[in-house]
Amino acid sequence: MKNRVLVTGGAGFLGSHLCERLLEQGNEVICLDNFFTGQKQNVVHLLSNPYFELIRHDVTMPFFIEVDQIYNLACPASPIHYQYNPIKTIKTSVMGAINMLGLAKRIKARVLQASTSEVYGDPKIHPQTEDYWGHVNPIGLRACYDEGKRCAESLFINYHRQNNVRIKIMRIFNTYGPRMHPNDGRVVSNFIVQALKGNDITIYGDGSQTRSFCYVDDLIGGMIGMMNSREDFIGPVNVGNPGEFTIRELAEMVIELTGSHSKIVYEPLPSDDPMQRQPDITLARKELDWEPVIPLREGLLKTIEYFKTIDLTNI
Ligand code: NAD
Ligand code: UDP
Repeated sequence: MKNRVLVTGGAGFLGSHLCERLLEQGNEVICLDNFFTGQKQNVVHLLSNPYFELIRHDVTMPFFIEVDQIYNLACPASPIHYQYNPIKTIKTSVMGAINMLGLAKRIKARVLQASTSEVYGDPKIHPQTEDYWGHVNPIGLRACYDEGKRCAESLFINYHRQNNVRIKIMRIFNTYGPRMHPNDGRVVSNFIVQALKGNDITIYGDGSQTRSFCYVDDLIGGMIGMMNSREDFIGPVNVGNPGEFTIRELAEMVIELTGSHSKIVYEPLPSDDPMQRQPDITLARKELDWEPVIPLREGLLKTIEYFKTIDLTNI
């Protein structure tokens, strides 16, 4: 057995892939989730593994356990879900960070924060490097998530400076793949579900805004690499795929790869929707010897195959 590892938000999209990979690597995994956006279905195949435990718990409440490492992923990640109860989103980011940092301090565990490219807001420099402070509207609709995650980073760095807590901060850029919630409103799942059902593909705005999409298997490799990097490398580090696409290009690719007859329709752009996003991953390449290897087309095909296996009738 290598390590005993706690994964908060472990029943979510990224968390379930992380639990799976950690078990494959011979670790013991405790998955903690309140099932707000995650589902038991995502980890049900792991329940028969004696080295896997699933615990229903909300990270806004303290939690005590003896582990070597903590991955703090608990937080709704899609705009629809994090704006559903914005105060709860802030509490989850801030109180969740305090609770996990307090635990890490007490048991001397390493703790990794799943931060986000959203800390850069609607960025004024491109691509985004870790030394960019960001351009965030503190009272906008996305602020509950962006500012919650920014405050969590601040908590992490201060627990490190003040109490020598062993931290790692990772800024995740748009990641996609199997087990995305079909209803969570994120662009990749929305477009694939719409294409498979033959519904209109909804582009918000004129579709010229960009995102850089990372396939989940690549991302998880970067996350575990960050956790196990040298002790004094604490980040923040960008992890994502630098391949940048407009949302219109994504829509066209999804239509082509699904062979769908869906047509594209244009809807209003939500407020504070970032115009450009692309990670500069020089630091991850250097410190983690990591870079993504799965191109968008290949990752989309795998994701489309997954969505074909689930029942989309009520979506
Ligand atoms: P997700 O919504 O699928 O997973 C989040 C998980 O956290 C869910 O299982 C949910 O039930 C759980 N959760 C939410 N609030 C909780 C609480 N108070 N207590 C306990 N559990 C709680 O989203 P995801 O895409 O897997 O994202 C995981 C993490 O990665 C999040 O912290 C997110 O901010 C971060 N992230 C993801 C992306 C991405 O593109 N997927 C990008 C940047 C950052
Ligand atoms: N988007 C879109 N149609 C959709 C869902 C999203 O055009 O059905 C756009 C959205 O406005 C944004 C981009 O796709 O510009 C990425 O949205 P997502 O919610 O996936 O992630 P985020 O904005 O948090 O990067």
